[in-house]
Amino acid sequence: MKRDTRIVHSGRGGKHAPGMINVPVYHASTIVFDTVAEFRQAVAKRNEQVLYYGRRGTPTQWSLADALTELEGGAGTVLYDSGLSAITGAILAFIETGDHILMPDSVYEPTRSFCDMVLRRLGVETTYYDPMAGAGIADLLRANTRLVFTESPGSLTFEIQDLPAIAAAAHARGALVLNDNTCASPLTYRPLDHGADVVIYSLTKYVVGHSDAMMGAAIANEATLERLRRAGYLYGHSVSPDDAYLALRGLRTLATRLERQAETALTLAHWFKQREEVDRVLHPALPDCPGHDIWKRDFTGSTSLFSIVLKNDSDAAMAAMLDGYEHFAIGFSYGGYESLVLPSNPSGVRTATSWSGPLIRFHAGLEAAADLVEDLEKGFERFNAA
Ligand SMILES: *Cc1c(COP(=O)(O)O)cnc(C)c1O
Repeated sequence: MKRDTRIVHSGRGGKHAPGMINVPVYHASTIVFDTVAEFRQAVAKRNEQVLYYGRRGTPTQWSLADALTELEGGAGTVLYDSGLSAITGAILAFIETGDHILMPDSVYEPTRSFCDMVLRRLGVETTYYDPMAGAGIADLLRANTRLVFTESPGSLTFEIQDLPAIAAAAHARGALVLNDNTCASPLTYRPLDHGADVVIYSLTKYVVGHSDAMMGAAIANEATLERLRRAGYLYGHSVSPDDAYLALRGLRTLATRLERQAETALTLAHWFKQREEVDRVLHPALPDCPGHDIWKRDFTGSTSLFSIVLKNDSDAAMAAMLDGYEHFAIGFSYGGYESLVLPSNPSGVRTATSWSGPLIRFHAGLEAAADLVEDLEKGFERFNAA
């Protein structure tokens, strides 16, 4: 089955809602049983998809979990109330006091803060590594290295990591590999096929796809699933059926939306490349992006995101440019149908690599590319006049 067909069919097929295209939104906390025997049967099977208690989900959440498991080629999925709680939930499932973990220097900033502020307090040491380390990660692995975290492309700077090389080195030393695949989306990269043990998503972004719900997921391989599932349950994670429905609804159009948005993003990236105000364009499909060759080898496409670095780093000129955009609203997150822009500066949070100066991240929405280019053109008029 081709990927686009899988996106339409996964998690459906009448298992959770016979006769219906979409699984209904089942609201439930208490589940009631007719007999003691039925109650005991549910208790015995509570780790499977049986109605037991609301926190363990209803067919609405199970359908979403099944869809993601099928799409990623995993053994099972745990859902979380946000992408960040999927990251922290997955890490906490595998670590113990005294462990050491490796984090890419380009990691999503709140993940980094979790390591520095929470894991440190729990006696877990984090070493940040150059996202381009590849097989060289072996030099950083210690006897107590429990897991190697990866994220590719990096969410602001777009480095593409050599996951197969990192996974081979980590597995040789008994460490697990977690991958935050939010930026690449399930459409362009399948980390479990490239050596990851657990793939993590902020579903808030491309899967929900309409900027109206927050959710996360971790999809595990056979060897890691039980531990991930148990931790997810014991930490009390659960997601609302309404939000699970929105994620399922968003998922069905992911391929069409993202292909169009990726095409527009590439058009804009090439347009920026021609502008004399621009020093660098960071986009995995451009040959000068760190890891471009790995992207060509392992990925099936690019997405709606890219960043630019301007030659003139005047904050006032940048603000004049962004403040006046008609179609690019200033805001966090991405993956919705609307274009966004985010002023950022990674220099303050890098410790293993160096980065200097501000960058601007763009997210291409579903608007016509010509309107977006016109907006950007007027932006540079304000920039140059400031
Ligand atoms: C947004 C994002 C997250 C966090 O997801 P939330 O749903 O906002 O909690 C994690 N990782 C990456 C790469 C992201 O872009």
